[in-house]
Amino acid sequence: MAPGASRRICPGGDIMDETSSAPAHPSKKCPYCNIYLEINAKRCYSCKRRVGRANRVGIARKPLDWLAYLICILSWAAFGFYVWWAFLRK
Ligand SMILES: [Zn+2]
Repeated sequence: MAPGASRRICPGGDIMDETSSAPAHPSKKCPYCNIYLEINAKRCYSCKRRVGRANRVGIARKPLDWLAYLICILSWAAFGFYVWWAFLRK
């Protein structure tokens, strides 16, 4: 631990870096099963789903599902290509 770094003990007993960009809440809630998690938890230990950072009210965000977005964009692109191929092609 670097000298001068300010630390504080959270009510849950966790030691947190005051200088980190962690939100004010010492814990966060799983958005799926409403269980309390560590503020830095990446995965809920109860429902095993991925959780993001806590929002202003201390509930973890659902992480962005890049694969789902990618599949959505690709399927729209394929649909657009099909419309072009079927109707607009000369
Ligand atoms: Zn959960």
